[in-house]
Amino acid sequence: MKQSQETSLTPRQVRRAARLARRLMPHDGDLNVWLRNLSEHRNRPIKATVGDLSATPGLSGMCVIRDDGDFIILDASASPTRRLVFLCHEIAHLLLGHQGEVASSDLVARATPDLPPGLRSRVVTRHEHDSLEEQAAEELATLLSLEHARRQRAQELRSNAISARLR
Ligand SMILES: [Zn+2]
Repeated sequence: MKQSQETSLTPRQVRRAARLARRLMPHDGDLNVWLRNLSEHRNRPIKATVGDLSATPGLSGMCVIRDDGDFIILDASASPTRRLVFLCHEIAHLLLGHQGEVASSDLVARATPDLPPGLRSRVVTRHEHDSLEEQAAEELATLLSLEHARRQRAQELRSNAISARLR
């Protein structure tokens, strides 16, 4: 009973976040523009980079939420397609307002060596797959990566049509 009440809250939150994320996604699916729009909307810097996450087995992406902005780190060894899914997953956490946990400075320093240390940070990782937050993030990430693929395909068709006309 309790379970169904909790999960019945999730779809509405996910739908609302999906609407916002779609509105901020450019028509050609350009990821840099999308991140910039998200960042402007949230009035906080968002930076996505690839990093070496191999120190934590099974970790494919993480989001470091700091006082000075949100930093998404994606597994450098993952394929571009997988990385996009991980990116959508971390963006989903941010849009759903997930707070993460206070992280060991070690973990943050290893994953974000380019950032100056010393700021308060919390981290959302992909560890607790069975938590409600993870489920909601996965659901939203799936919607976002499908939408991104759709826009990218549409953009390809548009540019193919243009080059066909020019031939
Ligand atoms: Zn997650």
